[in-house]
Amino acid sequence: MPVLALPRSLEAPVTVLPRLYAAEAKRLARLGIETVRDLLLTLPYDWETYGAPAQVAGLDDGKQATVVGTVTSISAKQSLRRRIKLTEATIRDDEGAPLRLVWFNQPYIAKNLHKGDRIAVAGTVKSARYGGALQMQNPHYERLEDREDVKPVRVGGLMPKYHLVEGLSSRKIARWVETALPLADRIEDVIPAQVRERNHLIEVAEAIRRGHKPEADQDFADARRRMAFAELFELQAAFALMRASIAAEPATPIPYRQEVIDAFKAGLAFELTTAQRRATWEVFKDMAQTVPMNRLLNGDVGSGKTAVAAAAAAMAHASGMQSVVMAPTEILARQHLHRFRAYLEASFPGLTVELLVSGQPAPERRRVRAAAASGHCALVVGTHALIEEDVELANLGLAIVDEQHRFGTRQRELLRAKGRGRPHFLAMTATPIPRTLALALYGEMSVSVLDEMPPGRTPVTTEVVDPDQRSRAYEIVRREVAAGRQAFVICPLIEESETLAARSATAEAERLRKEVFPEFRLDLVHGRLKEKDDVMRRFVAGEIQVLVATAVVEVGVDVPNATVMMIEGADRFGLAQLHQFRGRVGRGSAQSYCLLLAEDPSDAALERLELVARIHDGFRLAREDMERRGIGELMGPRQHGLTDAAMESLRTPALLDEARAEVQRLVADDPTLDGFPALKAAAARRLEQTSLS
Ligand code: ADP
Ligand code: MG
Repeated sequence: MPVLALPRSLEAPVTVLPRLYAAEAKRLARLGIETVRDLLLTLPYDWETYGAPAQVAGLDDGKQATVVGTVTSISAKQSLRRRIKLTEATIRDDEGAPLRLVWFNQPYIAKNLHKGDRIAVAGTVKSARYGGALQMQNPHYERLEDREDVKPVRVGGLMPKYHLVEGLSSRKIARWVETALPLADRIEDVIPAQVRERNHLIEVAEAIRRGHKPEADQDFADARRRMAFAELFELQAAFALMRASIAAEPATPIPYRQEVIDAFKAGLAFELTTAQRRATWEVFKDMAQTVPMNRLLNGDVGSGKTAVAAAAAAMAHASGMQSVVMAPTEILARQHLHRFRAYLEASFPGLTVELLVSGQPAPERRRVRAAAASGHCALVVGTHALIEEDVELANLGLAIVDEQHRFGTRQRELLRAKGRGRPHFLAMTATPIPRTLALALYGEMSVSVLDEMPPGRTPVTTEVVDPDQRSRAYEIVRREVAAGRQAFVICPLIEESETLAARSATAEAERLRKEVFPEFRLDLVHGRLKEKDDVMRRFVAGEIQVLVATAVVEVGVDVPNATVMMIEGADRFGLAQLHQFRGRVGRGSAQSYCLLLAEDPSDAALERLELVARIHDGFRLAREDMERRGIGELMGPRQHGLTDAAMESLRTPALLDEARAEVQRLVADDPTLDGFPALKAAAARRLEQTSLS
């Protein structure tokens, strides 16, 4: 690679690299790779170990291998049943042993390769179903010169596995990385030398080289550990800066008043749980300070977060301050409206709660806006409309966000900006987050945990149903619906594609309507459906008896009459996600059922499903899930920005704790981190990323 062709700056867009075009840059951007720096810092997540070229006779079924041979036949054809383009070829090694090759949807390969070509292929060996030759599906290939001594250089051996989106391949990325690699030395290390030494971390340039082109497993492990540390370290630095900037703008203290909490408790139809009382107390303590509260209330579905939020709003009101609650959907906002009213309006006669959503008629919205601006309305509950429309609050003291991961930092900031000073801030989430994860992702916040359920709930009977027992699952649905209850049927998310998931849910809804439950009112909801709010509303109203839904759709609504949650393709979901689905039933007093179906689960998958059936505590499940699969699955791919290396490191708290301690050490001496420009810039980039999320 001639040095002249190298971009001068690490900030240069990836398109400066040779053979990297705009369309590919777009795909890389979807992986968070925009600049040359990003490319270098994005290590493979794993390696294929194909090894040196081997003879066909010695291949093992199911193992990865590299084979060199001569093409004896090759043709492209269209599969009739499914709309797949097949390229089929056979090669023979120098002992004449055949290996069949099949590529799906890569018709151009038949144009690139010809009978008589000497090629190397690397892939996983499969024994053919009906006897005959061994085969490889979608192998990597490389055309070789027709000489014995010419060995493959691009396929076989150790091949990196990068995260991909359609249209990219690990080989392409490896090639681009190769051309950018000489720039690694110019990357400034965000980790100060003494921190590296204390924690036995290699330098960034070294980590890039070893991570993209390891010679041994240890190289890769060292590189990953260093990169994971750097990531957690940058995030913790970003949190430290955020905390400092929040603390710099004082809030109006909201003093604790015993009579408020007394009146609040007297107005409730139940006793607060110990966990609710503890969380409420933590919130009150924070609100009494001039440093704005910045707290995350983390409690399982149904743990009673709303009551804690309502107590906080009552306290604010007693100090003459207003509160806002922002929820991700209109249905949830309406639900909050009713619940906050029930909790507050009887006990606090002057306290009015209003709703602001875009679905309201304009005069109603005007009225609520006026009530908010005059300070007359104590609590405004709403959706994005709260920040999109020009809502002003005379005296905002407390901002609350429900399902906070559904909003970006910027949206949360806009909500906070509704106040004159900084309002106190309370975020709520129903994803049970283990401590390490909360610290890694929301390190700028303090966390209150509701780890206790209100008494009197009947646990949801959870069962893994064999696919050939599906009719038994349908019987349960039928029995419950016939008794006046409602049911959810969740269809799996296929490869993160909302289009595909929508399609499978649509097909399933059609099938259930025609063949299984023709007697019931059945409807469908998925993320692409325009009328989804309306469908949800009709389900809440009981007009729909069986609701077929995809996972991506908002099912975070309270339908106490729903008693069955049937989940197709349950093995495709994370434990925490399954638990979330389960939380949608069992909200009333009736016995509820969660039925987990998996078509052809692996033993490991089955074991995970059995865990869900056995464990009903969301936090415990989340921890199990994290230990088994890492947290990527726990949060869903778009809900966190961590790399696998960082996620994996969170399985044990050690690296995170070290990163936190090191950042605390730095900011103790240098609160603005001005002495560490590389770290500060990286932290700023992290903040920028999360605010776009
Ligand atoms: P979350 O938002 O945490 O999922 P909610 O605040 O919606 O939970 O509460 C779920 C249900 O439990 C509501 O019907 C609420 O009134 C009820 N609830 C809340 N706290 C208690 C309690 N301490 N005892 C009994 N019921 C409670
Ligand atoms: Mg809630």
